[in-house]
Amino acid sequence: MSNLVEGKNIVIMGVASERSIAWGVTTSLHKAGANLIFTYRQDRSYGKLTKLLEKHNIEAKWIVECDVASDESITNAFATIKDKVGVIHGVVHSVAFANRDELKGEYANTSREGFLLAHEISAFSLVAVTKAAKELMTEGGSIVTQTYLGAERVIQNYNIMGVAKASLEASVRYLAEDMGKYDIRVNAVSAGPIRTLSAKGVSGFNEKQGLIEEKAPLRRNVDQDQVGDATLFFMSELSRGVTGEVLHVDSGYHIIG
Ligand code: NDP
Repeated sequence: MSNLVEGKNIVIMGVASERSIAWGVTTSLHKAGANLIFTYRQDRSYGKLTKLLEKHNIEAKWIVECDVASDESITNAFATIKDKVGVIHGVVHSVAFANRDELKGEYANTSREGFLLAHEISAFSLVAVTKAAKELMTEGGSIVTQTYLGAERVIQNYNIMGVAKASLEASVRYLAEDMGKYDIRVNAVSAGPIRTLSAKGVSGFNEKQGLIEEKAPLRRNVDQDQVGDATLFFMSELSRGVTGEVLHVDSGYHIIG
């Protein structure tokens, strides 16, 4: 796997800590030879990211702020990337957000603002990012987002985020159709529960991991590296015939009734 994405310029959005799924993706893509560009939202995330890169001896090609709640921020981020890097070959979208108090109890209690916020940050952002990234993907490319089983089934407490992920997965399909003629593929990885900063916001997280150990065919939880390697597959030529797909990296849990 040492040169699967050799020389490709890939943008990674969503490293907030060493536990972030986007950090697992970073190490997989780095080992496979990619040139990496990062976006961050909070200054705290920027601080964590630069420390991690230093610790792991990874050199970023560029790092730029991008708050997906703002069209201007997305436009500026990709304009900067175009200016500093030129052509890009991939984007890893690993961002989501919902109000913590709506990730427990009944879904019926979701507020109008909470509903819109979760969709804006977790689903619409992929649409806006795809549009901006396409302009830099003149040699074709691959876009990958991160989703969860709560899009397909009712998972207790996942609530509004499950509905936003359903919108995200449908967007993957519509975007795949739009982007295919430009030789850009759009896919999603559906990971099992992984302990990250965001996951802590969903009530009952421990029980979800326990269920995987008990019921998933592989009887063990997945980690960031496994999601990273699946994302690498989508970024590489190995997946050149695949678009509009949702690939489960969940020890097979989704097939169990
Ligand atoms: P993290 O908390 O590590 O990452 C979430 C990222 O989203 C952070 O980097 C955060 O940036 C970013 N983000 C939130 N709001 C915005 C915004 N307005 N603009 C730009 N970035 C924003 O958690 P995960 O690694 O778990 O989450 C990554 C993705 O993986 C999410 O889509 C999540 O739903 C998905 N996923 C997670 C699973 C899990 O069990 N952990 C399972 C399946 C999917 P900042 O901190 O700087 O605000």
